[in-house]
Amino acid sequence: MRTIDHVIGGGSTSGGARTADVFDPNSGQVQARVRLGGQAELDAAVAAAKAAQPGWAATNPQRRARVMFAFKALVEANMEELARLLSSEHGKVIADSKGDIQRGLEVIEFCCGIPHILKGEYTQGAGPGIDVYSMRQPLGIGAGITPFNFPGMIPMWMFGVAIATGNAFILKPSERDPSLPVRLAELMLEAGAPAGILNVVHGDKEMVDAILDHPDIAAVSFVGSSDIAHYVYSRGVAAGKRVQAMGGAKNHGIVMPDADLDQVVNDLTGAAFGSAGERCMALPVVVPVGEDTAERLRAKLIPAIAALRIGVSTDADAHYGPVVTAAHKAKIEGYIQQGVDEGAELVVDGRGFTLQGHEGGFFVGPTLFDRVTTDMVTYKEEIFGPVLQIVRAKDFEEAVALPSAHQYGNGVAIFTRNGHAAREFASRVNVGMVGINVPIPVPVAYHSFGGWKRSAFGDTNQHGIEGVKFWTKVKTITQRWPDGSADGTNAFVIPTMG
Ligand code: NAD
Repeated sequence: MRTIDHVIGGGSTSGGARTADVFDPNSGQVQARVRLGGQAELDAAVAAAKAAQPGWAATNPQRRARVMFAFKALVEANMEELARLLSSEHGKVIADSKGDIQRGLEVIEFCCGIPHILKGEYTQGAGPGIDVYSMRQPLGIGAGITPFNFPGMIPMWMFGVAIATGNAFILKPSERDPSLPVRLAELMLEAGAPAGILNVVHGDKEMVDAILDHPDIAAVSFVGSSDIAHYVYSRGVAAGKRVQAMGGAKNHGIVMPDADLDQVVNDLTGAAFGSAGERCMALPVVVPVGEDTAERLRAKLIPAIAALRIGVSTDADAHYGPVVTAAHKAKIEGYIQQGVDEGAELVVDGRGFTLQGHEGGFFVGPTLFDRVTTDMVTYKEEIFGPVLQIVRAKDFEEAVALPSAHQYGNGVAIFTRNGHAAREFASRVNVGMVGINVPIPVPVAYHSFGGWKRSAFGDTNQHGIEGVKFWTKVKTITQRWPDGSADGTNAFVIPTMG
């Protein structure tokens, strides 16, 4: 059976006495084993990063950008193979895997402009003969800890910006689908990144703790579930690191009475069930405003859900594939039972779904609940599966209040033809990313990604200028070049602006 190794110092490296099973979610069979490293593997990665980083930081930014250009071209040339590799371990359909990789590549494209972005600021004549300028310098060694659900995009969010700004990087990908991150690291080496600039170490909590405590790692970026995000944030900050830690989500889609319901239903079937609901920007809660909107929406949703096709990840006609593991399938089905027990109306039940010829696969059918209320555990918690919950709101005020009061604040969407309502909603809702007639409002790469409340700990977002700020520190230089004349024309004056 294939063993998935670490990538340390530019080469494939074994290490770590333990391994974890990597499944094929389509069949339910173990298809590979990934090594689970610990302190020794991390120390080796840090040593490789330490050796490479000063030279990389001293490499001029256009040369660093050229590596990004070359990497982008290599990923594009290998897109089919990479998407298949991703799907084979994650279970999402090939089109979704291509989207996952493409969204990451857009951050790499942003990084191709790093010379422009790093130019800094300059003030001439802040005082007599005095100029002030600032520069952004890399932190040194950064680390990223990533979730299973976007094994292409999220590592690229992190290592793209960290490396383009002159840092060395250590990636600890999810142990559930670790092969794509390894291929990305190999392609970065092929693109010209020096050995040691991008290392991949596999592992679980033991490796994460080693990263959080390592004195030579300056910053940690984490994306995953909220309890672990909070843990990573607290422990990393206590160890003196800069930490950004993105967590879970429960995104609401508000449907105003004037919305185009056919469009909404089309958007919702993609946003709630696409990628089997395993997206932090999925829309698992829909909030129709008014009973009439609720009835009309429900009547249109039921046949749309019945028309969804579930298939293996290589099925080009499938809307979505299996979920990632048997444990995750059991968790989702447990939440469906809990929803029934706590009194929600189960309109479409996706439990017990099997795909002929793939009976061992981790498939969950699409599920619809109506009359979900805010006191229910299944409303409060993230299910992360193909489950859509209808929460009826009596008016606009109640609809704004629902996502605003929820513990998570990643994304939210409003569907309406009313510009005033949309504008009011966007300005008042207590959530970090808002879509107006856009069901999955993931910002483009040159803006920044980040939620509020328990969806993100730390105060700097991913990618865009926020990402550049996270991976760099500002140095401000005040310079004076006296002309040497004896008459004191250039006598030193502290630049308080008199
Ligand atoms: P997860 O929290 O289980 O794992 C994330 C990472 O943490 C993995 O690398 C894993 O190895 C590590 N980890 C797991 N248990 C740990 C522990 N006890 N101590 C230390 N580290 C540990 O998340 P997941 O199931 O891989 O991903 C799904 C979650 O990620 C969902 O909650 C989803 O909403 C969230 N997510 C959030 C965003 C965002 O930007 N806000 C984006 C994608 C996914």
